[in-house]
Amino acid sequence: MKRYSAFAIAREALRHHRGWERAWRSPEPKRRYDAIIIGAGGHGLATAYYLGKNHGITNVAILEKGWLGGGNTGRNTTIIRSNYLQDPSAAIYEKSRSLYETLSQELNYNIMFSPRGVIMLAQTEHEVRGYKRTAHANALQGVTTEWIDAARVKQLCPIMNIEGPRYPVLGGLYQARGGTARHDAVAWGYARACSDMGMDVIQQCEVTAIRRTGGKVTGVDTSRGSIDCDRLGIVVAGHSSHLAEMAGFRLPIESVALQALVSEPIKPCMDIVVMANTVHGYLSQSDKGEMVIGGGTDGFNNYTQRGSFHHIEETVRALVETFPMLSRLKMLRQWGGIVDMTGDRSPLISPTPVEGIFVNCGWGTGGFKAIPGSGWAMADLMARRAPGPLSAAFGIERFREGRFIDESVAAGVAH
Ligand SMILES: Cc1cc2nc3c(=O)[nH]c(=O)nc-3n(C[C@H](O)[C@H](O)[C@H](O)COP(=O)(O)OP(=O)(O)OC[C@H]3O[C@@H](n4cnc5c(N)ncnc54)[C@H](O)[C@@H]3O)c2cc1C
Repeated sequence: MKRYSAFAIAREALRHHRGWERAWRSPEPKRRYDAIIIGAGGHGLATAYYLGKNHGITNVAILEKGWLGGGNTGRNTTIIRSNYLQDPSAAIYEKSRSLYETLSQELNYNIMFSPRGVIMLAQTEHEVRGYKRTAHANALQGVTTEWIDAARVKQLCPIMNIEGPRYPVLGGLYQARGGTARHDAVAWGYARACSDMGMDVIQQCEVTAIRRTGGKVTGVDTSRGSIDCDRLGIVVAGHSSHLAEMAGFRLPIESVALQALVSEPIKPCMDIVVMANTVHGYLSQSDKGEMVIGGGTDGFNNYTQRGSFHHIEETVRALVETFPMLSRLKMLRQWGGIVDMTGDRSPLISPTPVEGIFVNCGWGTGGFKAIPGSGWAMADLMARRAPGPLSAAFGIERFREGRFIDESVAAGVAH
């Protein structure tokens, strides 16, 4: 595949852009692959990419029932950070964040990684203690974060009202190399690299059944025919329980809607990401100028990719106290995605009761930031058929053994 470069743009400009190739092929499914990944979201595509890059397995199909990146990957608010409390989480999220730093160069695709900094506001004494504890834990884990006081918060984000009547800002947990990236570009960049390695990214191909013989996977039935494999990755976020049911086991996952909204575009006024977990809201400004706003999940399980109106109202009302300028903005559009929640708010990267089937899910409200690290760990698990250093703690059995990785504070609302 031809490389993208400044020279290529100049050359194509001179010949009316007739020489660009398609970014990825759209092949017909083959009868058999060495490995099949279900779900062409960021995590599925990254898994395939690192299977090829790190383990030399390239006879791989990534099957997607809709269009690639059309699930949560293309619907999230793109916050990237690694300031988690527990060691296994900090390890995988920091691996991911550090891969994001050079992902554009590695994939030869501009994913627009913008390490503009992330602040998680402390607006209660409880949060002050919690975030100071996380800053200490992060120092031990090699994750660079710091506790900052309210004056520094105001300096980093001047549009904020730090003296709110209900929840004054008392300080914050600051990660200077956290930030955002362009979500579609992450999916597109990985898809292009996978296709370039000879892998088949097959869209409009829904998996309808998972075939097994003697406790081992033998293949899948899809809307485009049957395909054989002896290694299968289920990487379908909010649809994980549904796919697990096809394979004959259950997962400790609940699917709920999470929504976001954007305002009309305005001039640049905020060059940092701010998360306010006490009031359940977070905010950043996109390159187009829209204020990108997210809130909490719906309080009931469901599979519809949209949110409920009362959440929009609640989120915006809560944020207005800390960001009074929001009250003057018109909201432009709103959307939702189905997120996959575990009880301890940590993911599953795990073998399953069926030999050859592996799951990667449970990223809930915060899996965009984890895409490169999660793909790296899942590829390692699928290639070696055994958990590796990044995935060992995230097995399904932890819910039977009571070995939880509790990140409900880090991941319950904040992303
Ligand atoms: C509104 C919102 C805001 C968010 N904000 C953030 C944030 O700021 N930061 C952050 O880190 N995370 C955030 N997240 C979470 C993040 O988006 C997800 O954790 C992440 O994108 C999950 O990626 P994925 O590849 O696992 O799933 P997805 O992108 O959902 O991909 C799964 C794919 O599987 C496909 N599929 C399902 N069933 C089948 C089938 N039977 N056959 C074939 N294909 C199938 C689906 O069509 C889908 O494309 C947010 C999520 C939402 C909804």
